[in-house]
Amino acid sequence: MPPALAVFALVAMSTLSSAQTPNAPPAPASPPLFATTKIADNVYVFRYGGHQSMFIATPEGVIATDPIAYQRPQAAQTYIAEIRKITPAPIKYLVYSHHHYDHIAGGKPFRDAGALVVAHKNARAKLEALKYPDVVLPDMVVDQYSTLEVGGMRVDLIYVGRNHSDNSLVMLLPKEKILFAVDFIPIQDVMWRDMPDSYLPDWFDSLDRVLALDFNVLIPGHPGPGGRMGTKDDVRAAKQYLTDLSNATRELADQGKCFDDAMKSLKLPKYENWPSYGRYLPGNIERFCEYWGRGI
Ligand SMILES: [Zn+2]
Repeated sequence: MPPALAVFALVAMSTLSSAQTPNAPPAPASPPLFATTKIADNVYVFRYGGHQSMFIATPEGVIATDPIAYQRPQAAQTYIAEIRKITPAPIKYLVYSHHHYDHIAGGKPFRDAGALVVAHKNARAKLEALKYPDVVLPDMVVDQYSTLEVGGMRVDLIYVGRNHSDNSLVMLLPKEKILFAVDFIPIQDVMWRDMPDSYLPDWFDSLDRVLALDFNVLIPGHPGPGGRMGTKDDVRAAKQYLTDLSNATRELADQGKCFDDAMKSLKLPKYENWPSYGRYLPGNIERFCEYWGRGI
């Protein structure tokens, strides 16, 4: 090696060793508190913290979904401010994905701006009974199917059966082939805690009904790994996870190992890289122990 090159190689090596080992990934920058991302013409995703929501903004009007402002009213104000950066057009609708507060609390500024609030009929029944002070009750309800149009954009509101609640509406943009579905199809992750408010085995049917819809991009209610959107493969992966979890838990239930033994001993290493695996797998097992061990 000529002397000049040798010196260069030494410098390069010492630079690497003083900075970081060559194979270590750079430290991830913490994401900003909120962000708005354009997904297609007139279609956006608004993320605030760990929640997100789709909105359609056209020069003739806006369709917003989940306000995601539970215990943080500033999230709804920010959401509206982000819409206003795109268009001054009226916010005509605010559609709830399902009735859980972390997604739908804080809708008042949308109502004050003139939006009609839309939800599944079972969501309105739940919310009327619960009377949570920071949730605006729906003005319009959907049973199996409805469609909204604004500025030439069409959004189909589809009930795909009971899953993570009895009132999830998925929102399909048929032309753009985009689907917004919240909480019952995590992107590369296990389910939340012990899957409260869940319906088994309906959840599986619900995933099949989603797979039968025509879409390429799945917008989740919580950002996927690295903030990515999902695809039908993510729906298949979620269904496979629930299937593997169900089969494994059923075996343990039949051996009388539900609840505590199963929750401690059952591992599903295929999914150990999913972010909430360590934290929530035992809760997920508990839910299937209830089902297979007690018929609940
Ligand atoms: Zn939920």
